[in-house]
Amino acid sequence: MKRHPLLICIAGPTASGKSTICKAVVPRIDGLRLSVSTTTRDPRPGETDGLDYNFVSRDEFQRRVDSGAFIEHAEFSGNLYGTEWVNIEQAEKEGFDLVFEIEVQGVQQLRARYGDRLTTIFIFPVSYQELEKRLRARATDSEEQIGKRLKRAKEEIAILADPAFSDYLVMNDRLEDANQQVEAIVAAERCRLARFGSAQLKSLGG
Ligand code: 5GP
Repeated sequence: MKRHPLLICIAGPTASGKSTICKAVVPRIDGLRLSVSTTTRDPRPGETDGLDYNFVSRDEFQRRVDSGAFIEHAEFSGNLYGTEWVNIEQAEKEGFDLVFEIEVQGVQQLRARYGDRLTTIFIFPVSYQELEKRLRARATDSEEQIGKRLKRAKEEIAILADPAFSDYLVMNDRLEDANQQVEAIVAAERCRLARFGSAQLKSLGG
């Protein structure tokens, strides 16, 4: 039976482990792909253009904003990030489900557009102290960047913890448990009756 593609946001504050979870879970599930975002941030060691992000200049990002290329975009820690329409169009056309690993303002913009079609999973790093520890252990950012990210994380958690905003809460205490919970959510969301067209549902009645 055909259904609308899932649009799943994996949301959480910085260092919640959301990108680690996405990288582990997405390849395990058939028909699920990660939406590759566009950003003005410099690539980190090991990151590949076109795979981790589409890395562009500020001018190029602005040009794409002006031409209406983005379905959502936001500024985070001095850099611009956005999802391009083409990602969703491709999912609709080829019939795969899509995961967005984006920050809160982006989730809000997608929610405003897609309403209940969007599924938001809030990944929480168990405690604020744990979050700070993980952020420092990462050590790719300067002290100033870390401070900015922690402040932002507190603000994001307040928004994400609202049931009107997030559909699911996954505590990322043990990574593999969190991965399995996200997999289970994807499986359940794929079975949601409202995702199937009314003609198909009627045909089930014989
Ligand atoms: P990082 O620089 O650590 O890769 O990402 C910083 C933040 O930007 C993360 O919270 C990440 O989820 C978010 N982000 C990545 N891509 C996008 C995007 O396309 N749109 C929005 N709104 N946020 C994004």
